[in-house]
Amino acid sequence: MTQSQSPRQPQARLTHPLRQAWTQVVRTARRTTADGLVVGTSGNVSARVGDTVLVTPSGVPYDRLGPRDAVAVDLDGQQVLGTLAPTSELPMHLAVYRETDAQAVVHTHAVHATAVSTLVDELPAIHYMTAALGGPVRVADYALYGTDELAAAMLGALRDRSGCLLRNHGTVVHGATLDQAYDRTAQLEWMCRVWLTAVSVPGRTPSLIPPDELRRAAEKLSGYGQRR
Ligand code: 13P
Ligand code: ZN
Repeated sequence: MTQSQSPRQPQARLTHPLRQAWTQVVRTARRTTADGLVVGTSGNVSARVGDTVLVTPSGVPYDRLGPRDAVAVDLDGQQVLGTLAPTSELPMHLAVYRETDAQAVVHTHAVHATAVSTLVDELPAIHYMTAALGGPVRVADYALYGTDELAAAMLGALRDRSGCLLRNHGTVVHGATLDQAYDRTAQLEWMCRVWLTAVSVPGRTPSLIPPDELRRAAEKLSGYGQRR
């Protein structure tokens, strides 16, 4: 059980690495609204700096967030920075940081991903970018938002994956950076859209990518892009 509020006054100061991470958390949260992955104050974003986790505050529009609104907690959920209450999904974010080596987490209510979460237990391997999330993306059982029960269901669905769907709710994706977690989220939402488009054609069933081909794609994706 995590505690989002410390009885003590938060102690930490917004030192350089935390300030930089906060700027990126806010920028990423704003992208989720600008790109239509959430509406209003839905969704949340976090980034880990050592044993400190910067998180979006609960229910505050992202365009209103400035440097003074930074919120941080430790890995037990004790607030160490800021006065605004942290996201209600702190249990999910902290569970990811405790169980994986992720440095960033993005949670959205993206339309196509949320629709898919109500239809299947796993997003079928409709596209090779499935491999970028570690394999076919699972759907975590429904549980009330902000609960330890939801965090536990999410962890089960995330095993060997960098993202999952939350039934009747949305997406959770992690990465080594906020940009990576965000890009994976956008790819996941796009694949859900492709699958919904393909399955909506009457009388036809989409072809899927077999597991050995997905493994080949994963191998190739590890060298994708420009050599440094
Ligand atoms: P917060 O505003 O508390 O982050 O909650 C939004 C949300 O998406 C809950 O699942
Ligand atoms: Zn949510």
